[in-house]
Amino acid sequence: VKLKTKILAVNGLVLMLLGAVVVWALVNIISLGQASDAILRENYRSISAANNMINSLDAQAVLLRASGAKEGGSAFLISMNEVEGAFLEWLGRARDNITIPGEAELVDQISRQFAEFRLEFKNSIRDETAFSLDSLELLLHEVRSTCRRLLVLNENTMYEASNQARVLSREALTSTLITALTALVSALVLSFILAEKVVKPIYQIGEASRRLSDGDYSVKVPVTSRDELGTLAGEFNRMAAQLGRFHEMNIEKIVSEKNKADTILASIEDGLVVFDRDLSVAGINPAAQMILQTEGFPGEGLACESLFPHSPICSLIRDSFLNEKLSEIPEEDRTLAVVDGEGNPHHYQFTFSVIRGRGKPLSGIVVMLRDITRMKELENLKSEFVMAASHELRTPLTSLGMSIDLLREQFLGKASDMEQDLIDTAREEIQHMKYLTEDLLELSRLESGRIELEYDTVAVKQLFGVIEGIFRKQGETRHVVFTMSLPDDDLSFRGDANKITWVLSNLVSNALRYVPEQGAIDLSAARIGYNLHISVGDNGPGIPVEYQSRIFQKFSQIKGRKSGGSGLGLAICKEIIRAHGGTIWVESQQGKGSVFTFTLPLSG
Ligand code: ADP
Repeated sequence: VKLKTKILAVNGLVLMLLGAVVVWALVNIISLGQASDAILRENYRSISAANNMINSLDAQAVLLRASGAKEGGSAFLISMNEVEGAFLEWLGRARDNITIPGEAELVDQISRQFAEFRLEFKNSIRDETAFSLDSLELLLHEVRSTCRRLLVLNENTMYEASNQARVLSREALTSTLITALTALVSALVLSFILAEKVVKPIYQIGEASRRLSDGDYSVKVPVTSRDELGTLAGEFNRMAAQLGRFHEMNIEKIVSEKNKADTILASIEDGLVVFDRDLSVAGINPAAQMILQTEGFPGEGLACESLFPHSPICSLIRDSFLNEKLSEIPEEDRTLAVVDGEGNPHHYQFTFSVIRGRGKPLSGIVVMLRDITRMKELENLKSEFVMAASHELRTPLTSLGMSIDLLREQFLGKASDMEQDLIDTAREEIQHMKYLTEDLLELSRLESGRIELEYDTVAVKQLFGVIEGIFRKQGETRHVVFTMSLPDDDLSFRGDANKITWVLSNLVSNALRYVPEQGAIDLSAARIGYNLHISVGDNGPGIPVEYQSRIFQKFSQIKGRKSGGSGLGLAICKEIIRAHGGTIWVESQQGKGSVFTFTLPLSG
């Protein structure tokens, strides 16, 4: 049965009960009306007839007594006739209204007695001698007492009827009240049952929805009816079961994805550590646990500093979270040295990548540690070899140079032009090779960290003076304008004076090599923060953007451009500056010139 039908049925029932109460009240009101009507109809008229008959009899008795005197008696008799007429009329009405038992007999008796009186009276008038007032009065009295009995009979009946009517009205009131109360209680019970029937399933569905949203997919609503609410409960159960299945499928999917990710992470040889925003470890793979020696205790939740105590990694991660982007750091500085349990040093290169939801702030940073120990070892081997080779080449090259010089002196003025040219070329090449081996030796020493810097406080003014001394002549021959700008004569730095002089003279000699005739070279120094910046600017051909970081690597030269050197000069400069804790870079615009700048820690 439909819910709508149920609601309508209950409302109909309540209405029917209300109707029954109204009908019952009407029935009672009508029967009460009828009872009072009956009293009026049955008794009142008879009482009034009896009363009027008594009054008329009393009047006749008075007239009779008055006619006791013989003379003028006829006048009274005429009046008697009138009164008598009234009596007979009331008697007629009493006869017309015979309604209760015994009434008919009484009316008949009155008729009879009155007829007897009339006869006696008429006889008395005709036969005046036999006129007996007393007997006539007696007869009248008899009629009167019968009328009185009729009156009493009717009065008694009326009294009884009114008593009955009172009982009836009390009963009507009681029964109406009972009916109304029963109807009210029934209506209340019916409404309550209906409300319960409607609200209970809704409440159950509401409760089940709450449990469902809390993740209880086993929830079920009892289906107790086949109405709309029953259908709703059934549909809800189907939906919950479906959601449960989806949830299980998703969990299975997530678990299998996680297993896949875990397997991938476990099989990666590189160390991976995931940091969350409060710089604690959110995930770490077995390789990283091995590298950082955190096996045996859970790495997750560890603070960054406890994993990387002597490395810039944590401050870089912190900066990246603050700036919402990865901090940049040159590749060669992205190294981490770790000594393993057996005391062997290992070298790792670290790289960062970010975890970020679309349009959301960084949620994590992944640090990847790649083992470069072998590469470092190979590099060291290479440097050692280069160092050994350059060292071994130095002595034969020196003797070769000396031999060529001797040869040149011996043949001076005697050799043909061609012989002279050959000797000069050999001399230049040997010189070039000497420089190359020296540069290689220097560079490999620097790279392997075998060079001890001799730190001193060096005045920039003095350094600039030395450079000017070296290059003044070359500058003048090429008509190059040298300018020097020094903001403060007392400016000085902590460093190895010879090495820094080497760096600066390499930069100036490069500039001199590349500036055109009558070009300009500018040497300048400035104090910026805790550092000293020394720059060499020129108005030479400049350096293409793609070469600006590459030219600091070994043997790197700009393609298609003549170079007098080995391609090692800037690499050596970089190593020297790095050994001092500074950096070196170039700013350049092609065709307009270049500015090479390096930094050094200020002294004092
Ligand atoms: P090289 O011995 O070849 O000069 P460097 O390492 O000193 O080696 O320089 C590498 C390359 O950088 C040079 O070959 C040259 O092409 C370029 N270079 C260096 N300095 C300058 C400069 N002042 N102007 C233009 N190019 C330069």
